[in-house]
Amino acid sequence: MPGDGIGPEIVEEALRVLNAAAKKFGHEFSTEEALIGGSAIDATGTPLPEATVEACKKADAVLLGAVGGPKWDTLDPAIRPEKGLLGIRKALGLFANLRPATLFPELAGACLLRPDIVGKGLDLIVVRELTGGIYFGKPAGTEVRDGKRTGWNTMIYNEDEIARIAHVAFQAAQKRRNKVCSVDKANVLDVSRVWREVVIEVSRQYPDVELSHLYVDNAAMQLVRDPSQFDVIVTGNLFGDILSDEASVITGSIGMLPSASLGSAQPGLFEPIHGSAPDIAGQGKANPLATILSIAMMLRHAFDMSVEADAIENAVHKTLQAGFRTGDIMEAGKTLLSTREMGDKVIACL
Ligand code: NAD
Repeated sequence: MPGDGIGPEIVEEALRVLNAAAKKFGHEFSTEEALIGGSAIDATGTPLPEATVEACKKADAVLLGAVGGPKWDTLDPAIRPEKGLLGIRKALGLFANLRPATLFPELAGACLLRPDIVGKGLDLIVVRELTGGIYFGKPAGTEVRDGKRTGWNTMIYNEDEIARIAHVAFQAAQKRRNKVCSVDKANVLDVSRVWREVVIEVSRQYPDVELSHLYVDNAAMQLVRDPSQFDVIVTGNLFGDILSDEASVITGSIGMLPSASLGSAQPGLFEPIHGSAPDIAGQGKANPLATILSIAMMLRHAFDMSVEADAIENAVHKTLQAGFRTGDIMEAGKTLLSTREMGDKVIACL
């Protein structure tokens, strides 16, 4: 689903890289394109046509560019492009959001932390529970109580919801450096005490993975004090929303960061974390690397093709090492490339 703004440009490059990887490793991928977001509104009047949902459900994996733009900002919120995103996540039952925050050494200049802090590297992934917790817990509402406007929400998780996200985190760690840090607020919240208990129980099925726990306030601090201590962070919806943004902003390069959202049986959704960048759309200026790295996540998590995923990540690395940059990550002395040229370089390195 290319979507809007720079979406079509970056998805095109990502698919070219996928096809190049397929050729290199002797696979064949068949792809189908579907409408979502503003372009779907223009064509069909709705941000998530039924045909798109059907096409996604039939697929083994879904790639998304980005949705939204000023053209649709004044529409009724019920049919805004973002509704398409929320709708497809719901339709596919995606309960786990995986957001890696990786600092490529070549882009260390963009990092918001001091060089001595990130000297040991920054390569972690936040696994956030996406469909439960306080964002969806009932009861929730607002009313006037004793003459005062009052609002309330409920942070609630049952053991099944916790166990399934814990399994995702432990399995992700097994594909990385075998460390999981579970983040909660078990010193204050009852829901967190259940969270911690269940995560510990699930951990017994993964004896090769080291489990640690942090309270969320400390985790937020440790992310900027010493991010190299983390491999996989697993946490609930609210804490994950905040920590995943914090982790990614540290790297300083929004055009470089991929993400994956996974469910139980349905296909996963793979997308860059950035938006549709309407300010540079259609100008060949967009950085396609976050979408290309989303393809690597797709190969690793949807198709269990780690070797192929590594090859794409290495190709991106080599492209940066060779000094090639798009405008968003440009520095003096480097070579400025267009979206298409960047795709070409990654394919050449692959
Ligand atoms: P944005 O991420 O689109 O852009 C923020 C800034 O980063 C812009 O200056 C943009 O040019 C730059 N940027 C982003 N991605 C880039 C890339 N790949 N290469 C080079 N530069 C890049 O965020 P925004 O401006 O807040 O939102 C624009 C639109 O995108 C809005 O309609 C918003 O709702 C939507 N949005 C969509 C998603 C999504 O589809 N998942 C996520 C965030 C925002």
